Amino acid sequence: MTHYIVVSEEVGEVIPILDYGQGPIEYFRCVAVVDAPNPSKAKAMALKTKEFNAWLEECSGDNPFVGLKVEKGLCPHGICQCEICCGNDEPTCPECLIEFNKDFNEL
Ligand SMILES: [Zn+2]
Ligand SMILES: [Zn+2]
Repeated sequence: MTHYIVVSEEVGEVIPILDYGQGPIEYFRCVAVVDAPNPSKAKAMALKTKEFNAWLEECSGDNPFVGLKVEKGLCPHGICQCEICCGNDEPTCPECLIEFNKDFNEL
């Protein structure tokens, strides 16, 4: 199994502002990391996550598979850097970690 990062197209959501009834529209993408045997299975699994509720609403009736992008979470050194493998923390790849620490020290 491989970790795939599935990303939707932009979803526009109106931010409700009570005084005026309607606020600005905020655009975002639905993102989910799934452990799947192939990219099409990865899309199907991502659509079942709560992260993709907004995308399913946006599609309402249209094929929700259209417009989804699937990527492997591999870094240039071939090590998976997805959320499952390294959380939102440091990279798990030793070479990326060196880069990461270098950037960090430059702050
Ligand atoms: Zn991973
Ligand atoms: Zn790396």
